Amino acid sequence: MNQAVARLEKYEGIDPEVWSETYETEPQGLKDQPWFKNQVVRFDVDPELWSAEGFLSTLQAVEGQMDRVRDVKNGPRTIDLDIILFGDRVINSGAYLTVPHPRALDRAFVLLPMTDIDPELVFPDGTSVTDALKKIDYRTEGNKIYQD
Ligand code: AMP
Repeated sequence: MNQAVARLEKYEGIDPEVWSETYETEPQGLKDQPWFKNQVVRFDVDPELWSAEGFLSTLQAVEGQMDRVRDVKNGPRTIDLDIILFGDRVINSGAYLTVPHPRALDRAFVLLPMTDIDPELVFPDGTSVTDALKKIDYRTEGNKIYQD
């Protein structure tokens, strides 16, 4: 995850600002695999240089640089870089990009790290991360997150 951020930082107009803690997460769906590590990072992205789609294509380029192979859905991977929020924008560029990330509100491994970045964070529809967390079933043990 540090390597991905370091690679992104090299692009002009992409500056990491705030890092969440890192969490270890129980696999969802396909259970017979190692636990995942998750982190949320807030970047300052220069709107003069980057569209949301351009930013996603750069995340995918970095995944490619890190030997990301897309094989098993929900399976093990070197790195997975997603856009959760892009300011307060709501984006539906066909299948290529949906913002906010369509599954963000269901996933403790997304929402909990977001509260490290800013506990007052609010999705464009007005849902706060803390309210979203109250609606889902999960538990933590230190930085471990359990969610079926
Ligand atoms: P994943 O396997 O989770 O990396 O999913 C990648 C696919 O989801 C790519 O084809 C992306 O174009 C698409 N996608 C749609 N919305 C997003 C988003 N907010 N962040 C990352 N990928 C997205």
